[in-house]
Amino acid sequence: MRAVVFDKYQTFPSLTDVDRPTPGPGEVLLKVAGAGACHSDVSIYRKFTADGVVKLPPPFILGHENSGWIEELGPGVTGFEKGEAYLVYGPIGCQRCRACSRGQDTYCANQASMPYLAAGLGRDGGMAEYLSVPARNLIPLGDADPVDAAPLADAALTPYHAIKLALPKLSGGGKSALVIGLGGLGQAGVQILKALTGATVIATDLREDAMQRAEAAGAVTVPAGADQAARIRELTGGRGVDAVFDLVGATPTVSLAQQVVAVQGRVTVVGIGDVEVPWTFYSTPYEAEMLTTYWGTIEELHEVVDMYKAGQIKPEVERFSLEEALDAYSRLEEGTISGRAVVTP
Ligand code: NAD
Ligand code: ZN
Repeated sequence: MRAVVFDKYQTFPSLTDVDRPTPGPGEVLLKVAGAGACHSDVSIYRKFTADGVVKLPPPFILGHENSGWIEELGPGVTGFEKGEAYLVYGPIGCQRCRACSRGQDTYCANQASMPYLAAGLGRDGGMAEYLSVPARNLIPLGDADPVDAAPLADAALTPYHAIKLALPKLSGGGKSALVIGLGGLGQAGVQILKALTGATVIATDLREDAMQRAEAAGAVTVPAGADQAARIRELTGGRGVDAVFDLVGATPTVSLAQQVVAVQGRVTVVGIGDVEVPWTFYSTPYEAEMLTTYWGTIEELHEVVDMYKAGQIKPEVERFSLEEALDAYSRLEEGTISGRAVVTP
């Protein structure tokens, strides 16, 4: 079958022929419906090294936002019918520790000894015609469109997890949230904030078209510029932003977050970039906290799918054939994708 393979550290992936996988015990083979191209894939093939913090040694097939139709059941698997559509929860932990037992494979206690983190992160992902995953990782989609659903598995689940943890900061009247970076994750983040909270949602991106899409979803946008922090504070009545979600995670964006966050506010850094911002007594509003979050839980992905079925999350998808998948990554790197690129083998 055709597949997009990360075959060498710090090298652009290749589109090549590989063997079709055979589902192992407890696994299911899916015919892939959609595989989203996440900016984290770019970090994997551009930045990861053999001695980096996260290793994920090549080769493996990219794609950790996947959906598909049941094709074949591995030994011991029952309860699925060929042709049914499912979304894949990507993270795969040890299945024995406390974190895994609550569906939080992302924080698996045995991650260091696992040979992979997720489908598409250390083991074969969904940028291919077929994908084999544990049956336990499947979320039923019913009649919902599986191609548009693919980005839910990360681009929506990740901001959903970050937003849910920040809800105590956003409950009550007169609250505000700021979303920095309006790509795949950010557009979903705005929709989720609008659906789950009554907060004023402020959003920013370097791209005008990205800000227009966020406005259409109900956000107030403030472009970059010398007065950006002041204009954002003004929108909060001078109090500052209760919950900032930084989906870029670079020095200028974390610095903006620090300038606009409210006293006792919260900055969640989801974007994975290089950050050098001192978080000190005099540089930060009192009791403002900063944390990072990673992906989300399988239970939260069920909730995200419910929101998708209810029309509260509408992924904006640009479709690419498998033969065009490398163009999708080139365009993601150039910053010319609108919403999420989804490869449809
Ligand atoms: P994307 O490429 O789709 O979108 C990024 C957006 O940020 C673009 O619209 C871009 O114009 C904007 N941007 C870039 N620099 C900016 C700046 N200085 N100010 C304002 N906007 C800026 O990326 P994505 O797939 O949505 O991923 C976003 C980030 O989240 C990436 O760093 C990715 O690696 C990370 N990520 C983290 C997790 C996690 O679990 N923590 C999960 C998935 C992705
Ligand atoms: Zn575990």
